[in-house]
Amino acid sequence: MAILEAGHNHQHDHELLCVRFEEIALATHNFSDTCMIGQGGFGKVYKGMLGGKEIAAKRLSMDSLQGTKEFRNEVILIAKLQHRNLVQLLGYCVEGAEMLLIYEYLPNMSLDATLFDDLKRTMLDWETRFSIIKGVARGLLYLHQDSRLTIIHRDLKAANVLLDAEMKPKIADFGMARIFRDNQQNANTQRVVGTYGYMAPEYAMDGVFSTKSDVYSFGVLLLEVVTGIRRSSSGQIMGFSNLIVYSWNMWKEGKTKVLADSSIMDTCSEDEVLLCIHLALLCVQENPDDRPHMSSVVFVLENGSIAFSTPEPPTNFARRNTEMEQVRDDIQHSVNSFTLTEIQGR
Ligand code: ATP
Repeated sequence: MAILEAGHNHQHDHELLCVRFEEIALATHNFSDTCMIGQGGFGKVYKGMLGGKEIAAKRLSMDSLQGTKEFRNEVILIAKLQHRNLVQLLGYCVEGAEMLLIYEYLPNMSLDATLFDDLKRTMLDWETRFSIIKGVARGLLYLHQDSRLTIIHRDLKAANVLLDAEMKPKIADFGMARIFRDNQQNANTQRVVGTYGYMAPEYAMDGVFSTKSDVYSFGVLLLEVVTGIRRSSSGQIMGFSNLIVYSWNMWKEGKTKVLADSSIMDTCSEDEVLLCIHLALLCVQENPDDRPHMSSVVFVLENGSIAFSTPEPPTNFARRNTEMEQVRDDIQHSVNSFTLTEIQGR
């Protein structure tokens, strides 16, 4: 990795560069507000120039909702991964109480910031959206199956998909990710982390996660990309309780075109939209066994239709989703202004 020139004081650990705090401070004008490009549960993110290359430096805040465990997890795990649809971690810094992660800089920010912005969403015509969907699917397939490890991301959502200069997607944020052993199918945790609304029922309610819980999150993301509607839109969507219930009903009545975001109406292929909605509804099935593997998802997206099964109607979980999310949102708003990404287990 050549982001730093020879002569700088750094050492290798997990093949990553250990960068001095002083160098990052210099690169970001001492973490000035003008260099700040984002904020998440981890802390603030700054843009900077390091070794002639644009970088994004995430600085763990002292009062972070997440913490040192997630920091180490991200460093150790993402250092082992290389894929064009995963954000590249270039280096890290641990000095005293300071902990930072250094990534390649992605100029088009997060999918979330573009997709749900009235002006920016027009940048996302159907071709771009379809290519983003395929890129995210390939990135997730790599995590689940094609890397040397089986990795469950556990927090896939539009805010964790970053876009490069050509609007190619890169999955980010591996702080919550977990590695499975070769023959391991699922795991159970007392500490449910992730983002409500994207979480599969078995994970949100029983703490059981697997590649299929990531598939569920992918399905929710897919519905958001096609419809341009946030999974957590407050209030009803055309009289339906949430995005999944709305999408399933429109799909069942054959009104797929109605589902497409109005800003892609002119550019979208009805067949591709139908394919994506059908696939998304299979991904968000209540029973994990009824959801496809990412290998099938990628195959379908790249080769068009296969003989699909018919998705079952949304379950009680999907229907209750919005209600529970609203309660959590209300609680969270009264506590602080952070984005809620971490939910403690019961
Ligand atoms: P959370 O950590 O709570 O899940 P998040 O995913 O939005 O929330 P971060 O991953 O810390 O939080 O990122 C915050 C914002 O910083 C992103 O939404 C994005 O706008 C910006 N950002 C993060 N990484 C990069 C990067 N490599 N290049 C450009 N911008 C980035």
